[in-house]
Amino acid sequence: MKKSSLKKILAFILALLLMGGTAFLVCTRRSDQVVWAPIRHSGQQLILDAGHGGEDGGAVSLTGMPESNINLAVVLRIDQLLGFCGVSPILIRDQDISIYDEGCDTLREKKVSDIHNRVALIEGTENALVISIHQNTFSNSAYHGAQVFYREGEESLSLATLVQDALREGLDPGNQREPTKIPDSVYLMKHITCPAILVECGFLSNPEEEAKLRSEAYQTQIALCVTSALLKSKQNAGLSGQPVI
Ligand SMILES: [Zn+2]
Repeated sequence: MKKSSLKKILAFILALLLMGGTAFLVCTRRSDQVVWAPIRHSGQQLILDAGHGGEDGGAVSLTGMPESNINLAVVLRIDQLLGFCGVSPILIRDQDISIYDEGCDTLREKKVSDIHNRVALIEGTENALVISIHQNTFSNSAYHGAQVFYREGEESLSLATLVQDALREGLDPGNQREPTKIPDSVYLMKHITCPAILVECGFLSNPEEEAKLRSEAYQTQIALCVTSALLKSKQNAGLSGQPVI
């Protein structure tokens, strides 16, 4: 990320924090005292899904790192950044685990149970909004660049556009990719009903990008981009009177 872009994103987050500091406080009267208290609004519940985990490492990078590790590293950073802003997401996993039911023996059984449990967790959450983090691979190692996919629906598309723009500006101004509707072949996204996006942060099959994706600094930059876009969408929604996270 260029320093100027990183500075812009940090300045944006700082501005939101300052604005949020005001917006999240409400003047209430208790007895004769005027006190400031945080607003408990009943908006959306953000769910962060670090793709794969445990026995299911997902795609494997050129140097042998499973995407599940990178997915988790990015999700934990988004969670930390959002924590500064008073947003408490649900993390489908916060460790290197697969969330399959007891009694599953084969890897296939475990993978099926894991994905069913992820769907159940999301569908069991009222007013959910999902951000799923993955890494891409392709047979041609020249392919690179972050790509955002979205479930059908205006809200998913709008968030996907903000995230794609933030990733372009923050990571790679030359990235021409546009948000794309997620294919039906992605089980999780086909079987949930809430707004959702899936972020493929980059290609593990491209040597340059793979080295970046493995670095903690780059993982933080990705998390900053996703977080700033999410906060912007939250701000937009708040301004338009729709539920906010
Ligand atoms: Zn994946």
